[in-house]
Amino acid sequence: MGEVKKERILEILDGYDKENITIATLGSHTSLHILNGAKEEGFRTAIVCEKGREVPYERFGVADEFIMVDQFKDIVNEEVQEKLRAMNAIVVPHGSFVAYAGLDNVEDKFNVPMFGNRDILRWEAERDLERKLLVNGNVRIPMKYDKPEDIDRAVMVKFPGARGGRGYFVASSFEEFNSKIEAMKARGWIEDEDVEQAHIEEYVSGCNYCIHYFYSALDDEVELMGMDSRYESSIDGFVRMPAKDQLDIDISPSYVVTGNHPVVIRESLLTQVFDIGDKLVKSAAELVKPGLNGPFCMQTLVNDNLEVVVFETSARTDGGTNTFMEGSAYTYLKYGSGMSMGRRVAREIKNGIERDELEKIIT
Ligand code: AMP
Repeated sequence: MGEVKKERILEILDGYDKENITIATLGSHTSLHILNGAKEEGFRTAIVCEKGREVPYERFGVADEFIMVDQFKDIVNEEVQEKLRAMNAIVVPHGSFVAYAGLDNVEDKFNVPMFGNRDILRWEAERDLERKLLVNGNVRIPMKYDKPEDIDRAVMVKFPGARGGRGYFVASSFEEFNSKIEAMKARGWIEDEDVEQAHIEEYVSGCNYCIHYFYSALDDEVELMGMDSRYESSIDGFVRMPAKDQLDIDISPSYVVTGNHPVVIRESLLTQVFDIGDKLVKSAAELVKPGLNGPFCMQTLVNDNLEVVVFETSARTDGGTNTFMEGSAYTYLKYGSGMSMGRRVAREIKNGIERDELEKIIT
């Protein structure tokens, strides 16, 4: 656990004017619907924005206040933190916030109330911890190989850190593993030290569903919010080429996320979808108290046995939530139109204020 203690955050929150809370985030990733949703729920909004990256936020008009910084990571500077606290800000974390601010800073230096469980962010960022959460929850995941010499079927090779699929490759033997490692190094996509940390897992042949959930700690309920599939470069462009040409040109595809498509899953699979969401929430409550809180995502591949296999999770808003800024097929069922993930977060904060239970959802 980091230096930023919950008691300190609750003291800061105590000093806040609860009638004038500002919802704030870093201008990147999923900030558009986080801030838009906050406005829909009646909050003031603020964006911490890197100079040169302000255009979308100005054009879409999602932020009441702009805090301009030279670099994203300056969000943890004392001066920026003071500005945020002076606005009674609650910060909503997302993937870029964690990546740019840095986990250590979020845990040790960022004395601003945050929505969700601060301590769980490390668990999604470090592959071994993430795996522990899934294994403890008894969720179906791809089989893992301890060393490349053991490769006996198609495997997916991944490297540490969230790098959006850059440098990932598929291999079917130890020899192929070695030759592709060399090719990735030559491209400058991986370094020698990455090779030792290569994560090798069974290649799951199936369709991609990234499932977005919201766990309401106030109501102790897991809600299904939406689903997307990834649009990845170069693989998704590559497959538009006739197979004959794919064989002729010697390109090894990569899996860099460039965008997302909204998708719905076969209705008969929804039982599994809720089951794995419930399992992750239970597992997190056991391993990282108080557990998940707010948005989380299970990235899955559904194979032709109709098994939902989870290859990755996020314990905060995932980028694919951008596919349902005005609501999804699933939020429609529970909320009618217009419920984005950002708005759901703001609704939870509003409920927390009204019920005087903010301490349950803020760290
Ligand atoms: P990630 O960075 O973990 O989100 O993975 C990037 C992409 O790699 C995914 O969207 C999938 O297309 C693919 N992928 C990841 N793990 C596997 C796997 N075990 N089997 C097949 N494809 C995978």
